[in-house]
Amino acid sequence: MNRLKDKRALITGGTSGIGLETARLFLSEGARLAITGRNPATLEEARRSLGADVLIIPADASDVAAQKTVAETVRRVFGGLDVLFLNAGIADLRPVEQWDERGFDHSFATNVKGPYFLIQAMLPIFANPASVVLNASVNAHVGMPATSVYGATKAALLSLARTLSGELISRGIRVNAVSPGPISTPLYGKLGLSEADRKTLAASVQNQVPVGRFGDATEIAHAIVFLASDESAFTVGSELMIDGGMGNL
Ligand code: NAP
Repeated sequence: MNRLKDKRALITGGTSGIGLETARLFLSEGARLAITGRNPATLEEARRSLGADVLIIPADASDVAAQKTVAETVRRVFGGLDVLFLNAGIADLRPVEQWDERGFDHSFATNVKGPYFLIQAMLPIFANPASVVLNASVNAHVGMPATSVYGATKAALLSLARTLSGELISRGIRVNAVSPGPISTPLYGKLGLSEADRKTLAASVQNQVPVGRFGDATEIAHAIVFLASDESAFTVGSELMIDGGMGNL
């Protein structure tokens, strides 16, 4: 399959879950690929599983200066960029009374500020046409307890998909968003919950999904391929909800 043939693509957080699955699909569709991540062990694992042709860029998504280095590395190695999937993100879930300024800033730095400044850093090297896809969440739409900060970061990305599209479409840059519902990925093991609490949360979340199950990372990756490819040339500033009906029914 060659839906991304000759496309130079960067996936942030390409070492795990949705990002890693999208990386696999991008490669099978013929893309030339770079990924970022922060954890040296998972970066090394991704190098082994994706192969030596993938450009691995260690970079902290919350660090604005690091985004410039990522852009410079992509420019040096690829000469330009056709597809940017802004996927790296964290889900820090707490009731409102448990939040502090540091945690709040970290969530926004990782999920919103870093991605914003990575788009800015990429502007000189984006090809025309180019596609930017933001990984938002159904949590931007539903009032799930403990997701006030996470949901706000994802709602900010949906706003960026629209406003940046308006600003950048004249340069041939399309910006779109996907909003996954609950997807089985390692993210749920990073919530700081005991195994019993994680299972209780998973059961309660699953009950809110009309199709009655968690989604699979491939079900998101297929949508990213569509938004990354020229098949979606008329899709601009949009949000694709892939959530088993959770946000709409
Ligand atoms: P995951 O398996 O935990 O993967 C997250 C990825 O982001 C990892 O590659 C991780 O790399 C990277 N990352 C996190 N913080 C980073 C940082 N500061 N700098 C660089 N890389 C960083 O989670 P996932 O479920 O695939 O989530 C991917 C995206 O989908 C997130 O934006 C998440 O909010 C969104 N999403 C997930 C779900 C879901 O149910 N799973 C639903 C809706 C939206 P390291 O391992 O190096 O930290």
